[in-house]
Formats: sequence, structure tokens, C-alpha cells
Amino acid sequence: MTQKILAIDDSPEIHQLLKVRLKNLDIELTHAMSGDDGFMQACSSQPDLILLDVVMPDSSGFDICQRLKSESDTQNIPVIFITAASDVEQKVRGFEVGAVDYIQKPFDPAELNARVRAALRTKRYQDMLAHRAMIDGLTGLWNRTHFDQRLHEEVAATQRYDRPLTLIFLDADRFKSLNDTHGHPFGDQVLQALGEILHSNARTSDWPCRYGGEEFAIILRETDQAGAMILAERIRQNIEALQLRNSGQVVPVTASFGVTGNTLCMNPCDFSAEWLVESADEAMYEAKRTGRNRVCAAKCS
Ligand code: GH3
Ligand code: MG
Ligand code: MG
Repeated sequence: MTQKILAIDDSPEIHQLLKVRLKNLDIELTHAMSGDDGFMQACSSQPDLILLDVVMPDSSGFDICQRLKSESDTQNIPVIFITAASDVEQKVRGFEVGAVDYIQKPFDPAELNARVRAALRTKRYQDMLAHRAMIDGLTGLWNRTHFDQRLHEEVAATQRYDRPLTLIFLDADRFKSLNDTHGHPFGDQVLQALGEILHSNARTSDWPCRYGGEEFAIILRETDQAGAMILAERIRQNIEALQLRNSGQVVPVTASFGVTGNTLCMNPCDFSAEWLVESADEAMYEAKRTGRNRVCAAKCS
């Protein structure tokens, strides 16, 4: 994927020069003429690297860097200072406020290229590690850490924009016995198959997750309760229709589902990520209690 660089500098000549000097790289370069504009652009466009002038009329580059490093949305974006001064004090100050590097004006073209490329390489590696830390190794779905983070963020967005938010919980039925009978490696294959079913039924706006063990969850941010019930039922049928074989014999696999959403929460003050999890869990246990291999909606509470 093409990486994005944001240049923040009050001088049009510097922007023009950067454009020419960096044109050999596979990057998308955008420009901000002031510190404040640069800060806003960084928040909205999430560049992979910021080239930041130290001295600007409206603000100091050091202050802008500190602001970027104090916001969760922008703190992981690497900053390279563009500095006219050659004194050590200013360079050290740049590192102290969180920059990864500096480039001295007038630019040496080869050095500019090398420093920018090195910063982009590190950023790509950092993004890859961050992404990997959120993925469940067995199923390739989002993991529990990501589930917790995502659910809190989606709850906040639901409260802000008054949009639906639903949650499906599902737990494989009698999985302990399946493991005991067919072995743990076969159990793992079943979990992978369940992961594939969740993945293929999810839309881009959904978050299919492995909640833990043989439990899964899907966060649905653009689906109401009725839609979530339909999706859960479709997934239930897909799982029931699996034809996984062990020693030539088809092993039946089923799961029980609990479905809840913000519209089932009677008191808006109670609505939270914890409320959703508890509500989905209760509905799922209702499905277990009443025979398994079924979908239960949560009750209003
Ligand atoms: P219920 O229908 O009530 O959900 O019964 P259950 O047997 O599925 O539930 P229980 O919680 O008693 O057992 C869950 C089992 O899931 C036990 C555990 O060994 C197994 N399990 C958890 N994680 C994994 C995994 O990563 N791989 C495999 N193969 N098994 C797992
Ligand atoms: Mg369980
Ligand atoms: Mg189970």
C-alpha cells in the first residue's frame, strides 16, 4: 500500500522542493502551510510520516510535535524535523519532544531520500506488528484484546451518533466432548472452520472476533437487532451444515447464539460495553439451557 507523507512548513519553496526530491518514491505527499493546519490534517488523514518545520510563524514545530505525541490518534506517526539550524541543542530538543530523526536545510537529496525511506520502513514494520498483535493465531479473526478495544470505541460512537450497535455471541456446543473424542488437533480444525464461516458472513463494517477458547463474537455497527438475528441464524445454519470428517466419519458441529443490541437497553445510562457483553452472554446461556444449536435474543433490561 502506498504510504502517506504530510509535510508541514510555512515556506512554499520547501514544499516544492520536497515534491521534486521525493518524486522517485512510491508515496502520496500532502502539504500543510501552518502548524495548526498540519495538526488537523494529521488527525484526519493519518499519514505514515510527518516532515515538520521547526520555525513557523504561527507555532513552533516542537510544540506541534508535542501535541501530536500527546494524542492517541497521532502519537504513533513518526516525525522528522526539518531544521535550518545546525546547533546540537536544537537537534537534541527535537528528539526529546518525540521526533525519530531530523533533516538539515539545505537538503542533500540522497540523505533526504535515505532518511525518509528509513522512517517509512520502520513505520511499515511497526504497523505490521501492531496488526499482528490484534489477530488470533488459530483462526485469523480479531482477538480478545481487539474485541475489548473495538467494543468500547463502538459504544462511544453509538452514543455520539445515535446509530444501532448489536453484538452476537456464539459458543461451540459440547466442545470438550468433541476434543475428548476426536483429539485436540481436530478440535482446532473445527475452530478454524468456525472462524472461516464468521469471516465469510461478516461485512466490512463488522468485527468478527475470537472471544476466547470456543467462544466467538461479532460486533455489528450498522445492523439493528432484527438484522443481527437473521445473520446469527444464517451462521448457525452454516455451522450445522459443516461436513468435517475425522477418520472418515462426519462429526456434527453446532453452536449456541446470544444476540443483543443497544435498543434492548432500557436505561441509556446503563448502556456500556460491559452491559452488551453481559446481555449477549445471558442470551447465549439461554440458548444452551433451552437445547443448544439455537439463537436467542436478549431480553430488554
Ligand atoms: P457447552 O455446550 O456447554 O458450551 O459445553 P462445552 O464442552 O463446549 O464447554 P466447556 O466450557 O465445558 O468446554 C470448552 C472446551 O473448549 C474445553 C477446552 O479444552 C476447549 N477449547 C478451548 N480452547 C480450545 C482450542 O484452542 N483448541 C481446542 N481444540 N479446544 C479448545
Ligand atoms: Mg465456552
Ligand atoms: Mg462450548
